[in-house]
Amino acid sequence: MLRFQDIIGHQGQIELLRRAVDRDRLHHAYLFVGPEGTGKRTVATALAAAIQCRTGAGEACGECPSCLCIRDGNHADLHWLEQRKGKRDISIEQVRELQQQLVLHRFTGMKKIAIIDPLTLVNLHAQNALLKTLEEPPDHSLLILIAESTGGVLPTVLSRCLRLQFFPLAVEQVAAIVARRKGLPEDHALLLAALSYGSLGTALESDEAELLDQRRECLHKLAALSSDDMRGITALAEEMGSDREKALKFLEWVKGWLRDIMVLQVTGSTATVYNRDLLDQLQRAAAARRVQQSTSALAEIANVTRAIHRNFNRRMVLEGFIPMLLN
Ligand SMILES: [Zn+2]
Repeated sequence: MLRFQDIIGHQGQIELLRRAVDRDRLHHAYLFVGPEGTGKRTVATALAAAIQCRTGAGEACGECPSCLCIRDGNHADLHWLEQRKGKRDISIEQVRELQQQLVLHRFTGMKKIAIIDPLTLVNLHAQNALLKTLEEPPDHSLLILIAESTGGVLPTVLSRCLRLQFFPLAVEQVAAIVARRKGLPEDHALLLAALSYGSLGTALESDEAELLDQRRECLHKLAALSSDDMRGITALAEEMGSDREKALKFLEWVKGWLRDIMVLQVTGSTATVYNRDLLDQLQRAAAARRVQQSTSALAEIANVTRAIHRNFNRRMVLEGFIPMLLN
């Protein structure tokens, strides 16, 4: 995706960048900060394309030789600084190579652009080296630094960049993109987006049919359990705890499930329910419990998730948690 106009969300950030390109008032360094999967790379690429595009219209045309080179990842004046395979971080040698590139002759006559992703992997030596470029940027250069957070980044590096904050996309925005790119019906796309928690990458990659089936089967089992059915609770905990990924996925499904129950309890409306195919079970659960039960279970999910990440006994952790979900 090369054009700003094709990007969903981040309208404020895009408008600011678009205006800067238009008026030739770009800063020499930008820092894009925000969670994984929110589209920071996409916006960075669109910015690079808007600058390099032969039409010079402040927006990439998507068709000229320059745009095509950016799309194919081989534009001579756009350099990506990334983690090399098998390496733990981005090294000072890589930063030095990049610095040599930035002072070279410009092939297109536009800017020399470097995108560094993620900045948090640039080790401290390398950050210090990078600082030199940030303090005395070569003429016609532009740096775009990408990071999930600013932890571990030198304050001197941060202070040299114009910072743009990126936020997770709304589920509806992810759904719109998923529906368009995968050709799915709106309901289906909304569910998939909800299950991916605002990460477009996850929503686009997941095999929707399989994911939805697993989820439905799991939540059916949960809905059928009662709090005195210890055997059923143990069986579900054993199944969902059989591996780590499965346990984490289960917790995500439960999160969506609880959210929907609360939506029904608080608004009484089904309009914004994500798990539409489970509406009957959701309505029964919403009628049978107090809102407070759902909020405490929702709060407990963070603790349970942490325990799973720390390799606690998954079956035991889930066995303790599942009864909180039952009537
Ligand atoms: Zn173009």
